[in-house]
Amino acid sequence: MTVSYAHEPFTNFQEETHKQSFQEALAYVNTQLGKHYPLIINGEKIETDKKIVSINPADKKEVIGSVSAAGKEIAEKAMQAALQAFQTWKKVQPEHRANVLFKAAAILRRRKHEFSGYLVKEAGKPWKEADADTAEAIDFLEYYARQILKLKDGSPVKSREGEHNQYHYEPLGVGIVISPFNFPLAIMAGTAAAAIVSGNTILLKPADAAPVVAAKFVEVMEEAGLPDGVLNFIPGDGAEIGDYLVEHPKTRFVSFTGSRAVGCRIYERAAKVQPGQKWLKRVIAEMGGKDTVLVDRDADLDLAASSIVYSAFGFSGQKCSAGSRAVIHQDVYDEVVEKAVALTKSLTVGNPEDYDTYMGPVIHEASYNKVMSYIEIGKTEGKLLTGGEGDDSKGYFIQPTIFADVDENARLMQEEIFGPVVAICKARDFDHMLEIANNTDYGLTGALLSKNRAHIERAREDFHVGNLYFNRGCTGAIVGYQPFGGFNMSGTDSKAGGPDYLILHMQAKTTSEAY
Ligand code: NAP
Repeated sequence: MTVSYAHEPFTNFQEETHKQSFQEALAYVNTQLGKHYPLIINGEKIETDKKIVSINPADKKEVIGSVSAAGKEIAEKAMQAALQAFQTWKKVQPEHRANVLFKAAAILRRRKHEFSGYLVKEAGKPWKEADADTAEAIDFLEYYARQILKLKDGSPVKSREGEHNQYHYEPLGVGIVISPFNFPLAIMAGTAAAAIVSGNTILLKPADAAPVVAAKFVEVMEEAGLPDGVLNFIPGDGAEIGDYLVEHPKTRFVSFTGSRAVGCRIYERAAKVQPGQKWLKRVIAEMGGKDTVLVDRDADLDLAASSIVYSAFGFSGQKCSAGSRAVIHQDVYDEVVEKAVALTKSLTVGNPEDYDTYMGPVIHEASYNKVMSYIEIGKTEGKLLTGGEGDDSKGYFIQPTIFADVDENARLMQEEIFGPVVAICKARDFDHMLEIANNTDYGLTGALLSKNRAHIERAREDFHVGNLYFNRGCTGAIVGYQPFGGFNMSGTDSKAGGPDYLILHMQAKTTSEAY
């Protein structure tokens, strides 16, 4: 018997005992650094000559660990294992599949700070961000386990006299699950768990930048009793094995989370029917964002400033939901900008292992260079009010950066930067604010700070994003409370952590028996 779902609480680090146990977990993780993790195919540990070395973005000399990397040959082996395992896993009762997830959630909960410790070291997440990532992974496991119990008997349909109609959901087959670096535990675990609990078998390819925490999660699933071959762990070069598997005729679906460019590439390649392919592949793609915080003339201005700042700079702006642009009503523009700059100047940037650090590094050199080049672009497109400096001598640190007076169509207002840079733009009135809010190719998250009920209701209808928040920031969706996913170029309109999500991994079958 499972109790009803409530999200995993965030750790209160104000309490000394929690702080101490987190510090102890970090110390333990520090003793585990440098280990090597194999590929797992059909339960078998496989080593390859090619390795992916994971480094600490806050201290590039420190190796977190390494994983073996799969090439095409190994990817094919994993595909064959997953195809075979599907024949038995699809027959396993949904309750049994759910129980694997419940147990995995329990293991993660018991080892919560240890997993968060890996996120601090491998992804550069400050404590609170790491804690939220682990909590979200637990939530996904708990939530999807409950969801399959709701869906296992199908949906009701009508029957006429002399017939009996039923409507059931069946799993699809082998799925390729490809995850991003920025929620290397939550999104990786959530997308994998959703596919598995729905009765599919998977090939899991984590992001190159954070494969160790994924390897640790795979160990948890094994401990929870997942049979061999259901989850095959194949880190490797995205371009090489990604293309191969997306185009594979036996791939039934792809569950991707990452950038727009890669998502579009997958969508296009998956659409082509290959020789020997018997179905049209399904693609679930969660892609980028250019998310806006709107500040109305009557908003609480302190709340507005903090919503802008924390939405922009949480986890160094490396969230798809990050509020990387703010649009402020002209009547309150100067005051809100001033407050946002003052608050930003108070943020601490440094080693995420230190409890007091608000913002750590960005993930790697390519990301550092990309963000720094956008800062240069910003200097030509707006007024640099704070930040603008980077330091990559030890790790990839960039100051939280605000550009003001940016034109609504400037690159800084249109392109996803994925770093601690926010562009601020002045709007004439509420209509203009909404117009700017909808002027990107994306449609992931947004926020409106306003006390005007009519404006709130208008935004509810016309602000075209998948996740819209009123009088708060635009990040921090919680599984089962704010199902997450965007419109337009932010993805395929799916909602992770929502009631419709598992169905995307299944197909419905109607049976009708005549009496
Ligand atoms: P990314 O560069 O697109 O990589 C995502 C994953 O795709 C990685 O595992 C990557 O492998 C793999 N990949 C690369 N090329 C591939 C190919 N040709 N075929 C198949 N897979 C391939 O994204 P990222 O930098 O890790 O993550 C940041 C992006 O994710 C941002 O755009 C962010 O907005 C988006 N995101 C969206 C959501 C959402 O819910 N909408 C959530 C989180 C993040 P390698 O690591 O080996 O390159």
